[in-house]
Amino acid sequence: MNMDSFESLIRRWRALCAELEPRGVRLLVVSKYAPDDAVAALIAAGQRDFAESRPQALRDRARRWPECQWHMIGPLQRNKAKYVGRFAGMWHSVESLQQAEAVAAHVHGRTLPVLIQVNLSGQAHQHGVAPEHADALCRQVANVKGLRVCGLMGMAPKDATRESFRTLCRLRDRCADGSFAELCMGMSHDYACAVDEGATMVRIGSALFGEWDTRLARKDRD
Ligand SMILES: *Cc1c(COP(=O)(O)O)cnc(C)c1O
Repeated sequence: MNMDSFESLIRRWRALCAELEPRGVRLLVVSKYAPDDAVAALIAAGQRDFAESRPQALRDRARRWPECQWHMIGPLQRNKAKYVGRFAGMWHSVESLQQAEAVAAHVHGRTLPVLIQVNLSGQAHQHGVAPEHADALCRQVANVKGLRVCGLMGMAPKDATRESFRTLCRLRDRCADGSFAELCMGMSHDYACAVDEGATMVRIGSALFGEWDTRLARKDRD
């Protein structure tokens, strides 16, 4: 990555912060496809919240940069639960009680904040708990020692973005008698809408990393 790309990365990051900070929205930089030097540049500029979708990558980066919070996003296989339990600053993709218990078994000497992931797509193969089961899962996970449920996370289908964010916001207000503060929704293409609809955290990758992101993503898939 050359100097010019670092400068434009930091410029995009500053613009995003200027947009989100006045509204009290926390920016999670999704660094899953970003190289280490881009992460280091953002940390030097002051960014502290990063999100990873692969547990080993999360562990490696959490060890390297313990001054940051490493958020686990995306599906989790049971055999990777230990990395999340030990290294995540927040876990955004709780889908079942079994999975929550598997992670909690590796949380020692602290409490891990978690979000319940809700499937807003209406399609069973997508990740997250169905909206009608979210409240029950919140209540079950609330009883798991070592975890603290603090809100909901979701991804909006492209054809019903605003309605889906609204649904998630209303669900957050109802779940566990309205005791949850956090609402993590919105990515590069739809974060503005999510912020309008009450997001407290947004997860942004490609809007910051641009072409490196997609180039690395392609390599990752091949
Ligand atoms: C990759 C990813 C993001 C970031 O998406 P961009 O469109 O690159 O901003 C957000 N949330 C989840 C769950 C992801 O896996």
